[in-house]
Amino acid sequence: MPDIIQLLPDSVANQIAAGEVIQRPASAVKELLENAVDAGASDIKLIVKDAGKTLLQVIDNGCGMSETDARMSFERHATSKIKKADDLFNIRTKGFRGEALASIAAIAHVELKTRHHDSEIGTQIIIEGSEIKSQQACSCSAGTSFAVKNLFFNVPARRNFLKTEPVELRHIIDEFQRVALAHPEIAFSMHHNNAEVFHLEKGNSKQRIMGVFGANYNNRLVPVEEDTPIIKIKGFTGKPEFARKTRGEQFFFINRRFIKSPYLHHAIQAAYQELLPADSFPSYFLMLEVDPSSIDINIHPTKTEIKFEDEKSVYAILRSVVKKSLGQYNISPTIDFNQEMSLVDIPLKSDKKFIEQPTIKVNPDFNPFKTEKKSNPAEASNKENWQKLFIKEEAKEEQQVFQNWDENSTAQGESGCFQLHNKYILSPIKSGFLIIEQQGAHERVLFERFVNAMEKHRSASQQMLFPVTIELPAADMELVKELKEEIHALGFDLSEFGKNTVAVQGIPAEAAGSDAAALLEHLLENYKENLSELKLNKKENLARAMARELCIRQGKALSAAEMSNLIDELFACNMPYSAPNGRPVVSTYTMEDLDKRFKK
Ligand code: ADP
Ligand code: MG
Repeated sequence: MPDIIQLLPDSVANQIAAGEVIQRPASAVKELLENAVDAGASDIKLIVKDAGKTLLQVIDNGCGMSETDARMSFERHATSKIKKADDLFNIRTKGFRGEALASIAAIAHVELKTRHHDSEIGTQIIIEGSEIKSQQACSCSAGTSFAVKNLFFNVPARRNFLKTEPVELRHIIDEFQRVALAHPEIAFSMHHNNAEVFHLEKGNSKQRIMGVFGANYNNRLVPVEEDTPIIKIKGFTGKPEFARKTRGEQFFFINRRFIKSPYLHHAIQAAYQELLPADSFPSYFLMLEVDPSSIDINIHPTKTEIKFEDEKSVYAILRSVVKKSLGQYNISPTIDFNQEMSLVDIPLKSDKKFIEQPTIKVNPDFNPFKTEKKSNPAEASNKENWQKLFIKEEAKEEQQVFQNWDENSTAQGESGCFQLHNKYILSPIKSGFLIIEQQGAHERVLFERFVNAMEKHRSASQQMLFPVTIELPAADMELVKELKEEIHALGFDLSEFGKNTVAVQGIPAEAAGSDAAALLEHLLENYKENLSELKLNKKENLARAMARELCIRQGKALSAAEMSNLIDELFACNMPYSAPNGRPVVSTYTMEDLDKRFKK
């Protein structure tokens, strides 16, 4: 039998390796940015076209490469960062495996231009799918530029697997932010489709955080600093009142490398303890320095997990240091979070008249399922929904119910309902009573209203007396651009006002009187949270986000008119029985249920 084992050609081996290292445009961005940092650059530019599908380019003013090194850099296991196995235990650079460039070159069209600072002539290499197309001398600025075009041109499976442009762009921005936050001493910029997304001057960590997330972070952060033999900690942690419902601004860097660590995250969360409202996450930006030999460096280049030798001590130190910082800055646990949470507490419109109850004479031909043509469609469906409530009962019985409901509401007027512990509304009906959970009910009402507004492009906007400008983190600004149409349809009147800033001239009528900046920020926040957990379309997501933001909260006392209004609006909804997230909001109890409880 003939021998059958062969060595894979390099190009195939590289392509296989690429599958692990480069999953999406953002992974290539990470590798290129890290190489630029390792090259000692003081200025790094990232240029992106079409979320990386057309172009990714990183230009640095670092050390540059010689002609031979330029050629070598594309070989697998070609690295200048380690020479012997021992070096693995003392890595201070980002790279060391010499895999990234070989991988990128295997699955894209790459143009490299590089020049040492002390040589006059640079080198240009064009390589496509691991194949060198040309190598020649060129004139270029000192440093290195990698342009990556047609990523995954020969890996259709990967290309098809890519998400929409906004999603891929967000991943790129994430990677950019991580590297930029870890290196405030380096100037960074990022352009997407010719627009400048970030322009970050060199500075200190705090200036960098503000550069990335906006100037208003200046008063949101508390400094953290501690020097112990095991670990040095430096950075900032967010004041509890600015904690978010979504993750996203939690940054750990170990020896300047971004890592994810649920374990250490827990330590921070524990430091906040009762300072945080439920389900919210503080922002933090923490630089940890440890002896490289005390962490497991043999990590995969794209993995962001890390193993500590002495994990428990690191946990304990981190927790107490953050706690101490919060204490020093007088962040006492008496902050009224309820106040904070219900920042935008919108009273139910009180000018709205009671929806008239359907007046039905006792009439043997009465058909409760037949909808009358009314001028107000809400009213019509309102009646329908009321009718659905009694769907199980006999028609005659239903008639009775309606008649009685009528009498009830006329006889007792607004006092028909009763609020229990500022949370539930009890509403008597002939066959027993309903219990309605007020927050979910209002969320449902607002949700349907906003979905409607977006579908019909008809929403009420409240023009603001004093328009405000809001500076947003670049990533949020991208989101606003992506959702521009829908946000407008919700009733926001906003326009771009310079880089990463929007001017708000009007807000949805439902939110009249609330702080536009907080409203927009919370809307994006809720939207992102929905995005990470649920597969919703844009409109549904935004409607949910708005409803959650503006709904009356549990704990709010309601007047009889407000309760009555809410019930009317709820039963005018298409799906009155559950909140947008599926939680039930109405529960029916019959007199029989009650009677049973009073039997001997
Ligand atoms: P690694 O970073 O793990 O060494 P890479 O494949 O990312 O592997 O890069 C290979 C080598 O190419 C690096 O070790 C470095 O010597 C050189 N190199 C890559 N990018 C640059 C750059 N921007 N400037 C100078 N040298 C670079
Ligand atoms: Mg590298």
